[in-house]
Amino acid sequence: MGRFRITGAGAWIVALMVALSGASTAAAQERSADLRLEGELTRRNHETYVELPFAVPPGTGRLTVVFRHDGADDRTTIDLGLRDPQRLRGWSGGARDRFTVAETDATPAYLPGPLPAGTWNLILGVPNLRPDVTTAYVAEIWLDPAEATPSALSDAPLAQGPAWWRGDLHVHSGHSDGTCRSRGGARIPCPIFRIVETAAERGLDFIALTEHNAASQAQGLRELQPYFDDILLIPGRELTTFQGHANLLGLSAPLEFRLGAPGAADLDMVLDRAASLGATVSINHPRMPSGEACMGCGWQAQTDWSKVHAIEVLNGGAMAAFGGRAESPLSGIGFWESLLDEGHRLTAIGGSDSHDPDRPVGEPGALGRPATVIHAASLSQPDLMAGLRAGRVFIDLGHPGLKRLELEATAGGRTARMGDELNAASGALISFRVKVEGAPGARIQVVESGGARELLPAQPGDQIDQTFTRRSDGQRRWLRIDLRDAHGGLLALGNPIYLNWDDAP
Ligand SMILES: [Zn+2]
Ligand SMILES: [Zn+2]
Repeated sequence: MGRFRITGAGAWIVALMVALSGASTAAAQERSADLRLEGELTRRNHETYVELPFAVPPGTGRLTVVFRHDGADDRTTIDLGLRDPQRLRGWSGGARDRFTVAETDATPAYLPGPLPAGTWNLILGVPNLRPDVTTAYVAEIWLDPAEATPSALSDAPLAQGPAWWRGDLHVHSGHSDGTCRSRGGARIPCPIFRIVETAAERGLDFIALTEHNAASQAQGLRELQPYFDDILLIPGRELTTFQGHANLLGLSAPLEFRLGAPGAADLDMVLDRAASLGATVSINHPRMPSGEACMGCGWQAQTDWSKVHAIEVLNGGAMAAFGGRAESPLSGIGFWESLLDEGHRLTAIGGSDSHDPDRPVGEPGALGRPATVIHAASLSQPDLMAGLRAGRVFIDLGHPGLKRLELEATAGGRTARMGDELNAASGALISFRVKVEGAPGARIQVVESGGARELLPAQPGDQIDQTFTRRSDGQRRWLRIDLRDAHGGLLALGNPIYLNWDDAP
């Protein structure tokens, strides 16, 4: 099945094995191809172009091609190109054996844009095929529905874990209002490469480019990702409304953001659409005031918290506005803890909200300050987003050298880590253990439901390994830890372990 043969000079009949996958959400290479085009080329095809037609169904959001042939030893060369029903869509010659095309991004050499339904053609150019040689080839094609289009820019993890990965989840480039100095010294819309280069030099493992409502940055990120193979680039969006701002992480597709417009009647509808596109949702700088200085910045929208995954409790811009202080009236920590007390499970994250990559590293609002540190199985977009949603996250305000901040709880023979739930019957003893590496002189502060706080005694040395206990009252509680310096200043903020939470609303 899937073979085709020459039935006359240049006339090809293509038998397609069509197995459209429906609603699969797997990234292209994690499931078998939807189409497989196989065949043979001979000297008759030397210096010709062969077109392989295939059907693209309505609603397709991404098309990915992987091509192989067995003629390398015979010096066979096969170029690749693509034609959609209306136009030549790209030509990568002999430079690629795989490419992807979607609405907002495509492998360089191909044009991003809508994927019209109809007959498309994979074009094989044959600059060299020796006499008496037969070369067999296979083109595998994945067609992802728009609602389940993978947005990750890297097919494979950049590094394996499990490990703590450090990054910045809130960054602007010249695709919205991020600026930097040109080579001549003018202030210009900052190109993406300057931001990615600076983030890599600062040792970040990942950054999310979250432009105000714009979706145009995905193509630039896709082009940069293969070069920056030490920093994962995550497409994102800062959903920017008159009632508040929210980051949609891992989203590259366009999204209607104008509340009240068709398809975006209210916030619920926008968040449902974002969820269908796989986005992770964070409410940004919720306690910023809204006014002429920062329009729509405070969070005022009616919110179904079950549609939200995270709260940006520490925002570099809010810190910079208060002389660098993390705990100011503009901090989102109290806003977040009130939601936890109401029974909502939401992960605290941070973001620099960087609008200029050249802001010095020591200043709040500089790229990577604060950083969000996520425990994940690998350095890949799916694993980082899973770690974020699971609450396996702490926020680092910029303590040089802080490597890890871990909290474990044990009760009744079960152990839970930061972000986990743990049941403990009334009267049961819960043992907690904190491990910190790379923050000499720092102290642990325990923070609990309702705002109770306890500073633990200081431990000498570079490593903290400290235990404490609580007696369960059988009620739903949360408990987390902060890291503080000798003067009480906040160095890092941890996410909770959730106690007796399985009856959450
Ligand atoms: Zn904002
Ligand atoms: Zn922003």
